[in-house]
Amino acid sequence: MPLRLFTRLVVLAALLSAGRAAPATPGWKAGLATADITPQAAQWMSGYGSRNRPAEGTLHPLFIKVLALEDAAGHRAVVVTSDLLGIPQTIYDRVCAELKQRHNLGRDQIMLHASHSHCTPVLRGALYDAYPLPETQKPVIETYSNELEAALVATVGRAFAALAPAQLAAGQGETGFAVNRRNNPEAKVPELRRDRALAGPVDHSVPVLAVSSPDGALKAVVFGYACHNTTLSFYQWAGDYAGFAQIALQRSHPGVTAMFYSGCGADQNPLPRREVHQAERYGNMLAAAVEEVLLRAPAPLPPRLRTAHTFATLKFGPTPTPDELAKLAQGPPTTLTRWAGRLKAELQAGKTLPRSYQYPVQVWRLGEDRLWIALGGEVVVDYALRFKKEFGPSTWVAGYANDVMAYIPSARVLAEDRPPRTNGRPGYEGNTSMYVYGQPAHTWADDVEDTIAASVHRLVGEVRAR
Ligand SMILES: [Zn+2]
Repeated sequence: MPLRLFTRLVVLAALLSAGRAAPATPGWKAGLATADITPQAAQWMSGYGSRNRPAEGTLHPLFIKVLALEDAAGHRAVVVTSDLLGIPQTIYDRVCAELKQRHNLGRDQIMLHASHSHCTPVLRGALYDAYPLPETQKPVIETYSNELEAALVATVGRAFAALAPAQLAAGQGETGFAVNRRNNPEAKVPELRRDRALAGPVDHSVPVLAVSSPDGALKAVVFGYACHNTTLSFYQWAGDYAGFAQIALQRSHPGVTAMFYSGCGADQNPLPRREVHQAERYGNMLAAAVEEVLLRAPAPLPPRLRTAHTFATLKFGPTPTPDELAKLAQGPPTTLTRWAGRLKAELQAGKTLPRSYQYPVQVWRLGEDRLWIALGGEVVVDYALRFKKEFGPSTWVAGYANDVMAYIPSARVLAEDRPPRTNGRPGYEGNTSMYVYGQPAHTWADDVEDTIAASVHRLVGEVRAR
């Protein structure tokens, strides 16, 4: 072939392919929706038993945000993030039932996250023993919880309606404001930090899921961090550092939805704390870690999604005896006396206290090797470190997912917190937090970590086999 003709053919072929869209290989679809859930009524705030009156204002609005996903084979799922302390079982159950009916979603396809901000509203039945709740608050909380359920369902519907072709990518950054609160006295943290002497396990990773349109424009960023949202403890609605991080990312990427989920931060605090400027600073640090991941161009995820879910039966430790409850119920009203008095009354009314809890465990596989494990309750950091070691570095582990019913100590934390405690630690995560959550025992049974790990391993096997 004469060279000139060959050149013309090459140019013609190039022109033809440039004028055509990329071959239509099926890819991801993603849809987004957001709803403002800031309470309008004077409502009690969650997380601290020391508050003695309802909220008095708003630092910034609270949101639920939904990312609906569909993979190339048409398998669907939703990620829901929220500025809430934790979603209680009744709300989890009712929302899942409604999403089954409206969108045919199973529990494996629904991942509900809570940021665990302590400047968010008390929800139905959650930690009632922990607060000096006036009776007049209960209908206010009930009304809000019903409205929240409706908002969750409606927002998922809007996200599905917005499904459009998308690209997903994953990466991981790091930031270091979380401190292991069991191993470092709060007042000493600035000094320990200065001396590089902070102790105890931490997980400073910042997992990032980036969602873009086919032309590469960022649409949403989902990111996590393993640390309590307890910088603030005042009487204003706020998302704490996670709220500030989402605000910072949405300001720097106009039109993008920024979504936060909690890692296994049950024994981690943002320290030092209590000032608004500190919450904002930690939020900016977290946002900067996300920005770095975005700058490095996270790795694309092939359009394959597998989802699995189970309930692990977590056994409680010994049931307190009626005599013990009668003793604990004496004295001025505290979380402990309210809890013991309530359980005592239930036993006297002939009720049997539950001996176990149906604990939600969920695993997703995104693309080829990205695992996303989502665990209920306030999960201590040992679980995240363990599962990353067992399943590899492309593993994300969320706590505070789906149903937050109690702290979830590891075998180590449970053993450390078993009385008589000799190390001077408060023994909260493994022991005294159980009555704060209203559970009918002082501890989980000794095999709590083994039981959860067995379920996680089974589900990881399932999503990897398919
Ligand atoms: Zn907590």
